Amino acid sequence: MGTDVIEMLKRHATVPGQVWLQEGQVTYADLLAETGRLANALSGLGLKKGDRLLLQAEKCEAVLSLYLACLRLGVIFLPVNPGYTVSETAHFVADAEPALAVVDAGRVVGLSALGARTMDLTDLLAVATTAPTEFADPAHGPDDLAAILYTSGTTGRSKGVMLTRDNLASNAEALVGLWRFTGADVLLHALPVFHTHGLFVATNCVLFSGASMIFHRAFSPSAVLGALPKASVMMGVPTFYTRLLADPGLTRAACAHIRLFISGSAPLSPATHTEWRDRTGHAILERYGMTETNMITSNPYDGDRRAGTVGIPLPGVEVRVTDSDGTPLPQGEAGAIEVRGPNVFRGYWKLPEKTAEEFRDGRWFITGDMGAFDAQGYLSILGRAKDLVITGGLNVYPAEVEAALDDLPGVATSAVIGVPHPDFGEAVVACLVLAKGAALEEAGVRAALRERLAAFKIPKRVLVLEDLPRNAMGKVQKAELRRLYAGLFQAG
Ligand code: AMP
Repeated sequence: MGTDVIEMLKRHATVPGQVWLQEGQVTYADLLAETGRLANALSGLGLKKGDRLLLQAEKCEAVLSLYLACLRLGVIFLPVNPGYTVSETAHFVADAEPALAVVDAGRVVGLSALGARTMDLTDLLAVATTAPTEFADPAHGPDDLAAILYTSGTTGRSKGVMLTRDNLASNAEALVGLWRFTGADVLLHALPVFHTHGLFVATNCVLFSGASMIFHRAFSPSAVLGALPKASVMMGVPTFYTRLLADPGLTRAACAHIRLFISGSAPLSPATHTEWRDRTGHAILERYGMTETNMITSNPYDGDRRAGTVGIPLPGVEVRVTDSDGTPLPQGEAGAIEVRGPNVFRGYWKLPEKTAEEFRDGRWFITGDMGAFDAQGYLSILGRAKDLVITGGLNVYPAEVEAALDDLPGVATSAVIGVPHPDFGEAVVACLVLAKGAALEEAGVRAALRERLAAFKIPKRVLVLEDLPRNAMGKVQKAELRRLYAGLFQAG
């Protein structure tokens, strides 16, 4: 069990001058006072332990204060992607029944129309300025709910992931130890804060170690390059790294002050890993996790950071690879990744049956990812189970074909999908984005792959696209690609 997030905040607030935010030199003591004022303000508005607070706002420092104020009060924090429209947000309001929706000014009318009690974030912050800083936190238990994060819901209805205080605390403690965070660290934070990566992994690593952060409200390669000399750690999604590589300002000298680059939320291609190491001298540390489980595995701090793998299970976290019956498979064999440990969520909000379906024997969470362990215990992700292509009765793991495609000169990135085919059931289709100035022929790509892959894995079609559809975390939206190309092999 980890030490509660708020206990860690209070501990660092006792250290005079311990800086939380570099901009304005905001200290932990300032942060504790701010969360006290906000907790009092929310309490004054009638919010109490167990209520939900929905937050839909552009990234700003106050989001983190509000997250912590909710934890102090015992109010369940429910951050929503500010990119969602009012009609998309309607589902969260109806499902989670928040006691209060806190939003940017432009959303007040829309959210109120959904029937939610709504407040402009600026107004809430104004109310808080006059509230007392002293707040008597009610008692909290490790199994109390801290947050509900909705899954991105690319297939079917978005589900509310219930995370407990100890899910967050135990994971933060494991990561701080593994990644060697200390109070001297400065994290460059350019991730969204409505998602587990920016909200929990990044923020809680800082909070648990008493480190500070350089907080960017959006990701901009030039701003990041400007800040790297003042930071010691950066966390990013793979697109951060590819976009930084496209900037000539990314040099060994620009990264000289950084001790650790971390990547996650989507696969980092081995090509990007190698290019980054050649340009900067740093081996990016790749880790793997998901909303439901927090972080699951990580490459080591010391020792081999292996490109194309997500490393080994975190301390206290158990991972196994199973066949379709749930029987554990021997090392080297590909199957479903299942996870057990203090990091695993409590269940889906108001969906006990769906929750039960996703746990094997009520204990092992079935992640929906496919993977395999190598002889050294490193896990490789082979793609989502629902993205597995079954062609002529044979399994094709998209990640394997994508790795082969990404290695071809002229390929910037790729996504492999299965689409309905009259003979094969499904056919492997490759969607490519080419490097600037490159020109590739479909026949040439297929011929080059034949040297690496068995015939059944060779894409039946190779499509060249301007770009791949991605979500806010840079994850390729394969369901969207499947929808677009569903008719590729249909007669007529
Ligand atoms: P989310 O719940 O939005 O964080 O999405 C979690 C999913 O992202 C996982 O189930 C994986 O499919 C994927 N994912 C996260 N990290 C990695 C990684 N390092 N490599 C490959 N896939 C990843």
